[in-house]
This record gives sequence, C-alpha cells and structure tokens, in this order.
Amino acid sequence: MPALPTTERLLERATDALRRCGADPDAAGGAGHTARTPITGEPLLELAPHGADGAERAVATAESVFRGTWRDTPAPERGNLVRRLGELLREHKRDLADIVTVEAGKIGSEAAGEVQEMIDVCDFAVGLSRQLYGRTMASERPGHRLMETWHPLGVVGVITAFNFPVAVWSWNTAVALVCGDTVVWKPSEQAPLTALACHGLLMRAAADVGAPPEVHQVLLGGREIGEQLADDPRVALLSATGSVRMGREVAPRVAARLGRYLLELGGNNAAVVAPSADTDLALQGVVFGAAGTAGQRCTTQRRLIVHEDIAEDFTGRVAEAYGKLGDRIGDPFAEDTLVGPLIGESAHRSMGQALQTAADEGGRLLTGGGRRLEPEAPAAYYAEPAVVRMPRQSGIVREETFAPILYVLTYRTFEEALELHNGVPQGLSGSVFTRDQREAELFLSASGCDCGIANVNIGTSGAEIGGAFGGEKATGGGRESGSDAWRAYMRRATNTVNYSTRLPLAQGVSFL
Ligand code: NAD
Repeated sequence: MPALPTTERLLERATDALRRCGADPDAAGGAGHTARTPITGEPLLELAPHGADGAERAVATAESVFRGTWRDTPAPERGNLVRRLGELLREHKRDLADIVTVEAGKIGSEAAGEVQEMIDVCDFAVGLSRQLYGRTMASERPGHRLMETWHPLGVVGVITAFNFPVAVWSWNTAVALVCGDTVVWKPSEQAPLTALACHGLLMRAAADVGAPPEVHQVLLGGREIGEQLADDPRVALLSATGSVRMGREVAPRVAARLGRYLLELGGNNAAVVAPSADTDLALQGVVFGAAGTAGQRCTTQRRLIVHEDIAEDFTGRVAEAYGKLGDRIGDPFAEDTLVGPLIGESAHRSMGQALQTAADEGGRLLTGGGRRLEPEAPAAYYAEPAVVRMPRQSGIVREETFAPILYVLTYRTFEEALELHNGVPQGLSGSVFTRDQREAELFLSASGCDCGIANVNIGTSGAEIGGAFGGEKATGGGRESGSDAWRAYMRRATNTVNYSTRLPLAQGVSFL
C-alpha cells in the first residue's frame, strides 16, 4: 500500500474543497472544537463551537423565518431551493466526497456514493414539493366536505452521526425544506467540516434562488447542544441519528415536553444464508455488508446466520475473502483501498473489548482483528475486519459494536434462523439469501424479519433513497428519506366544511 498522506496535505485538500463549496474555514476558526482526520488520527484545525447562546439564537432565527415567510411560501417554490442545492451538489460532488473522506475516513467510491445519495434525495424532494397530498373522505353528513390538509410543522432540529455525515443531513433537510420547515442542524462533533461544506452549498443555493438564508442554521458543538435542542419547545420535531444510548437520552427529554421526535439508532443486522442460496452472490453481499465502510454503517452486517450444511464451506470462503481484504486496508484516498480507518481510538478499543468478550463467551476468531499501520500513524486506527464463529447468540452478539466484526451462527430449520435473526434488541435491516420462494416470502411476511428494512438476495446495507429508511425496536421506529416519510415533517389537519343550510351533528346526535 502507498504511504499515508500527511495531515498537512489532508488539511489542504479539505480546506480547498471547503472554499470551492462556498464555506470559509477561517471564519469558522476559533478554539474549543477540534476537527480531526481518522486517516492520520491528528487534528486538522480548531473551530469555534456555537455554545448555548448560539443555539438559542439559531432556534429563534429559524422560528422567526418559519413564521414570517417560509411556511407560507408555496411548496413548489420551496422545492426550487432544493433543486438548486441538488445542482450544486452535482457540481461539487468530488469536493464534498473529499471532505467526507478526510473527516470520516470513507473510501473514495463510498464517499462519492454518499454524495450521490444527497443528489438523489434532492431530486426526490423537488418532486415531492408538488405532491404533498392530502385525502378527501366521504362525509356522513349531507352538504359537508371532509378532507385533510398537510401544513408545515416548524423548526426541525437535526442531530447527525459521524458515519453518514452528509447523507443523513440531506434526507432530513431536503424533505423538511420542501415541507415548509426550517432546519437547525447539530452535526457530529467528529464531522464539523462536512457540515460547514453542506451549509455553504445551501447558502449559495438560497442566494441563487432568492430564498431566505435563515431557513438553515448549523451549530457546531457537542452533545450539550443536542440536549438543548431536545429541551427546546420551539423545536417542533427533533430528528436524531446515532447510537441507541443517545436515543435513550434524547427521547425522554423530548417526551417530557410532549414534543415530536424521529429516532434513527443503531442496528445489529443479520443475513441468513440458506442451503439453496446462490453462494457467489451471498459472498459478495456478506463481504460488502460486513466489511464495507470498515464496519461503520448503521446497516453493517454484524451477524451471519448460515445453514449448518453449508456453514463450513461458506464461512471458509468469507474468511478467505477477508484475507484478501487484508492487503487493501489503508489510505481511503488510494484507489485500491477497500477498508479505511476506524473513526478513532475508542472505536478500536470497543472492537478489542468485543473480540475479547466474544472469546470469553466461547467464540473462535477465524480471521482478522489485528491493527495495521500503527508505526506509520500511531494516532490512527486501522483494523483488520474480523470473523468470529460463535457457539450461540451470546450477550456480545446481541450488542452493536461499531467496528468490523462479523459473528457467525448456524441453524438447522428456517424457523430457528428467524428466531436467531429477530433475537436481538435492534431492528434495522435484515436479509436472506435463498432460492427457495417459500423461505423468501416467509422472511418478508408478518412472522418473518422484524426489521424496518428486509431484503432478499441482497445484503443488509446500501439502501436506496426511494424507500422509507429506518428500523424497529431499539433502532427507534423513525423513518426518513423516501416513500411517505415526509409526513413526519408536517402536521395534518382534518377539515370539515359545511356548505348546507342545516347543522346535522355527526353520529346522529341531537342537541337543541
Ligand atoms: P453517537 O450517538 O455517539 O452521536 C450521534 C449524535 O448524537 C452526535 O451528533 C452527538 O453529539 C449527539 N448526541 C450524543 N449524545 C447526545 C445526547 N445525550 N443528547 C443529544 N445529542 C446527543 O453516535 P456516533 O458514534 O456518531 O454514530 C454511530 C451510531 O449511529 C451507531 O450506533 C450507528 O448505528 C448509528 N447510526 C444510525 C443510523 C440510522 O439511520 N439508523 C445512521 C447512522 C448512524
């Protein structure tokens, strides 16, 4: 593998890209918030956090522009802002992808894919801006019309995680803006530069189409800013993406003020590989699902549930493919790299602890688990993706460790496979590889996979934006992006209009 780039070179690459996106890294400079790169593990530059006062001002401004203009701006005109954002994203795809790679450590093709997802959701939202449909229902009363209308909700607080630093923002923001909401964004403290770049592009789009720039506010800071948004009654919807721990902290705070929240939390995703599976296809799906993005996707495959008749052969092939990945761990900017760095020291520590616990629970490490590039970059954490054969679905297997560890379990009957599949607290994404139609249909049925995303002959990760994205159980129940996920960003009013000269009461009630 070629040598890692220097931190200076990475900083230069990120700041050049930021400027091209319309953001000024100097203006955001200060002290208290360090931007880092996991590629070398070193600090890039110091930024000024917004703090409690900044958050207060941002929410007040977002609320004021919501009430003053944005909620009454026709939805197709709001769509125009998002259309322009999509155009700018196309123009700056490489710039934004480069900043994602510098800050989140994603390999080039995955970083570009993340920006493509933003472009796709902008296109979707522009179409949506002319399709915020309500229904008309048959009234039981003569001379009456019964219908529903959808109205903008207010300020949407968006909290995002480090691993999809830009796509998750766009799922929320593109849709919220066409719905007539304004947005206050608290990005991950590990990805402030990507946030400045997105904000810069959106501000350019606003200037180009004459939209008020105050519709979007960005707040650099830690969890205390997120807590402030959770507590603020002016935040009509809090959309928070991150760990189950974060969701457990945020949900009661928002609930205490009877506010609305949308949670996109951790997963513990599994693929079932049946004896009839096309194992070449399954192998590709499993290796990308489990080792792609260095195991740092919410939809990363963390469990492989394979039929005992093919377990040895299939697991051997997975381990062999992992062996080849071993030569392709390193600089995410290098063309040949498939596995970039972990986000930091604590992710690496969690991985080591999980492997130790798995061993204590009877697991056998089949491949991986070692650390790479330590001499070249002692502050960076490059890990070999690991495969561990487990005797049962023990405690550690039921947890999400945000690192590339694939636990292998075996099954005899399909019912047993489903039980293992659903036997974890999380419910984000699941898949089955089978050519048996009964198994495929059962997996997708009411008594099958209990996740928000259920796939057949395709891996657990890499969803398209057209569907609603999200999961059940401890994953939080929220849905974002496509389908009718927009409804979470609006309020529904049921309207009854009486165009008759009488006032009949519903249900035949008589009074006066
Ligand atoms: P994290 O929970 O540490 O942080 C996520 C965000 O929440 C950050 O912006 C952080 O500042 C904020 N935060 C943390 N505690 C908070 C609190 N008490 N109140 C308010 N805000 C708080 O997660 P991470 O390490 O950045 O990301 C990895 C996790 O995110 C994984 O569990 C992954 O599965 C999950 N994730 C889920 C999805 C999804 O769509 N379901 C998508 C991406 C990531």
